[in-house]
Amino acid sequence: MVHLEGKSVAEAIRQNLAPRVQALREKGITPCLSVTLVGEDPSSQIYVNSKDKAAKELGIEAKTFRLSASISQADLEAHIQKLSADPTIHGILVQSPLPKGLDEAKVVDCIDPRKDVDGFHPTNVGLLSLDRPGHRPCTPWGVIQLLKHYNLPTTGKRAVVIGRSDIVGRPMASLLLHKGAFGDATVTVAHSRTPDLAAVVREADFVIAAIGKARFVQASWLKPGAVVIDVGINRVPDESSPKGYRVVGDVDYEGASQVASAVTPVPGGVGLMTIALLLSNTVDAAEHLS
Ligand code: NAD
Repeated sequence: MVHLEGKSVAEAIRQNLAPRVQALREKGITPCLSVTLVGEDPSSQIYVNSKDKAAKELGIEAKTFRLSASISQADLEAHIQKLSADPTIHGILVQSPLPKGLDEAKVVDCIDPRKDVDGFHPTNVGLLSLDRPGHRPCTPWGVIQLLKHYNLPTTGKRAVVIGRSDIVGRPMASLLLHKGAFGDATVTVAHSRTPDLAAVVREADFVIAAIGKARFVQASWLKPGAVVIDVGINRVPDESSPKGYRVVGDVDYEGASQVASAVTPVPGGVGLMTIALLLSNTVDAAEHLS
């Protein structure tokens, strides 16, 4: 059984980016990622800080805009439009979730698609669907990089994606349908209305779980030898931990390790890929815009 560790893959991505950042800086261009955080959501603060740190380590400038939760829709849209027009900004990320009352889709519509490093703008969603170049959403794109690194081609295989969110499930399914060795899969997307999920999962050579429910996918559902990619990040109470909780995935990791041929750990798997791909998209944007 192979543990699909994200650390070395993310590190390899960062190492490939370093000379590209250097080349841009020699031309007088410092790649710049802007992160807009609205309100005080504590887990968003943690994500934003780790994005900031990872960018700076690579020589990418990170500008964080902390805006009040009481900002109006019009002012938030104006802020994003300003970033879109600013030639010193190459990447625009709006931290989700936005406080209640703000329309996230309308805010994303204001991002220049060339700077949409999350890959959430309708233009990039369309480009992804058409398998044309564009920014790919970082988490599913990270999963593809993980499969490439461990040489686990999906051609002709049955893949089951559990979850149909705009940020993970749907783009994951699109990527697995693209032509190429790490696409070309026969893809099923399962979701909360799918009956007998166990039977659907049992068909799969590749299972990608993006549900948001701790250890939901059981080992007994898996086909022996399946590759299991666990995107889930869930906190469960744990009195033995100083924080009072620990983080687990959407899959019963210990059980799956007995049945699968490869599994991503949580933490330490897909989660580490997301920020690496965000930086990669930012460097791509800086190169294309300059
Ligand atoms: P979401 O809540 O937007 O979507 C969850 C999906 O799961 C939905 O499409 C829903 O239909 C499906 N689902 C819910 N209950 C189900 C059931 N009983 N059977 C089958 N499907 C069911 O969540 P999301 O944003 O896609 O995130 C999913 C998980 O991935 C979360 O744990 C999240 O924290 C994690 N995540 C991790 C990263 C990362 O960097 N590793 C990035 C994004 C999300």
